[in-house]
Amino acid sequence: MMQKVYRKPKGFYDDFFRNPSPDKKTTHYCPGCGHGIVHKYIAEAIEDFNIGEKTVWVSPVGCSVFGYYYFDCGHQQAAHGRAPAVATGIKRSKPESIVISYQGDGDLAAIGGNEILHAANRGESITVFFVNNSIYGMTGGQMAPTTLIGQKTTTSPYGRNAFNEGHPLKMSEILSQLESPVYVERVSLHDTAHRNKARQAIRKALQIQIENKGFSFVEILSMCPSGWKVSPVDALKWIKENQLPYFPVGVYKDVYSERKTKEITKRVWDKEKIVQALDLDRRIESYPRSKPKKEIFEEPKVKIAGFGGQGILMLGLLLAESAMLTGKEATWIPSYGPEMRGGTANCHVVIKNGKISNPSVDKPDILIAMNQPSLERFEKEVSDQGLIIIDTTLVKKGVSRKDVQVFAQPFADIADKELKNTKVTNTLILGALIGLTGMIDKKAIFDAFKKHITRENLIEVNKKAIDKGISLVK
Ligand code: SF4
Repeated sequence: MMQKVYRKPKGFYDDFFRNPSPDKKTTHYCPGCGHGIVHKYIAEAIEDFNIGEKTVWVSPVGCSVFGYYYFDCGHQQAAHGRAPAVATGIKRSKPESIVISYQGDGDLAAIGGNEILHAANRGESITVFFVNNSIYGMTGGQMAPTTLIGQKTTTSPYGRNAFNEGHPLKMSEILSQLESPVYVERVSLHDTAHRNKARQAIRKALQIQIENKGFSFVEILSMCPSGWKVSPVDALKWIKENQLPYFPVGVYKDVYSERKTKEITKRVWDKEKIVQALDLDRRIESYPRSKPKKEIFEEPKVKIAGFGGQGILMLGLLLAESAMLTGKEATWIPSYGPEMRGGTANCHVVIKNGKISNPSVDKPDILIAMNQPSLERFEKEVSDQGLIIIDTTLVKKGVSRKDVQVFAQPFADIADKELKNTKVTNTLILGALIGLTGMIDKKAIFDAFKKHITRENLIEVNKKAIDKGISLVK
C-alpha cells in the first residue's frame, strides 16, 4: 500500500485559489527564492501548534505581499512598513489571536524602521519574521537598508558606499538592545544545517506568542537570485560569502525562561467614561432636529475650497462640529499647501446619521467655491442636483453646469460693507448654507463657536454673519 510521506503543510491552502493566475499549486516567487522555504516552515508550525483558526497574517509591501494567497488563516494587508502597527492593533483588539508580521528588508528596515523599533520597544505580543535578502526584490533590485558595502544594485551601480549611503542596518543587533523583546535571533537558509535552525527559530518565536510572553523576532538571511542576478545555486553561496560575514547568525536575545506569561486581557472601555472624557455628552441634548430641504442634505458630502487665509478650514470645522453637536457623525479632512497665507486650501466634510466609512469627498453634494480656480477645479465633481455656492467677489466666471443648483452672492463684499469684517466671510457663507439646506440648526453652530472661537467679540460678529447669511437666502 502506498503511504504519503510528503505533503503540503496544513497551514497552507490546498489550492491557492486566491491567486488569479491559472496555476493554483505553486507560489509566485522566483525560482530559488527563500520566501517559499520560510513560508513552509511557518505553515508547518501553524499546523503543528494547531493555531490556524486564530492566526492573523499581516502582509507587507514587497515580494511577499501575496501571503494571503497561501496561508489558511486570517489576513490583513498593511501599508508599506506599517505591518507592526497593524499587527499591534489586531493583537490588542483580539489578544487571543496569534499575529504574524511578515516583512522584507525594504519594508521593515527602511520605511518601516520606526514602526518595528517602537513595536519591539513596547513589547507587543506579536511575532515578526524579517526576511533579509539585502535588496528591494519586488521593485527591481534597488539598494535596501541591508544592502552590503560594495554591493551593486540598480540604485548603487558602483556598489554601496558607506560614505554616501551609510552602513547596512543590523536589525537583530538593534532590537536586541531594547528592554522589551523576549527573543531575537538571526538565522540563514543557505544550507541544510542552517535551515534546520531557521525552522527551530520560527517555531520558538511562535511558541513565545502562544504562551503570551511578548515580542519575538526572527531575521532570516534569504536568497534573492533575481535581485542579486545569480543562479539559485550561486545564491546559496552568495549568502555564505557576502551576507554571513556582516550579518552573523545567532541568538541575540533570549529571555524566554525569565519572562512570565502575561494574562490575556481584552481592554473593555467604559462607554460612559469615554463620553465624559471626550466631552461628547454635550451632544446628548435637545437641539431642534434639522429638517433638510432635500434628501442629499440629510447626509451630505461637502467640499469647501479657496485660497489659504479665507477661513476655508474653519468653515469646514464649524460645519463638522455643529453636525456632531446635533448627534450626527462627522469627519473633517483639511488639505492645504505649504504656504501659511495665499496658497490653496480645501477641506472635506462628511456628515452622516451612522458611521462614516470614507471621510474623503470625491463627489461632493455641496461645493463651496471661494475663488475661481476652486470652482474650475471641482465643479465637475459635484453630484447631480448638488449645490454649488460661489462667492462672486472672487468668482467672476460662473458655473457652467446646468444640472446643479447654484447660489451666488458677493459674500466677501457683503462681509466688508455690512459686517465691517471680511474675516467673517466664511461664517456668512455658512449661514447661507444652513439657510439653503436646512441641514443644521443655528443653535448648534453658535455652540460650535464657543469651542473654536476664543474671543467673545468675534463670537458676536460671527453670530451676526450667520444671521445675515440666512437672510440672504430668504
Ligand atoms: S525578486 Fe527576489 S525576493 Fe522577490 S520573489 Fe524574486 S527571488 Fe524572491
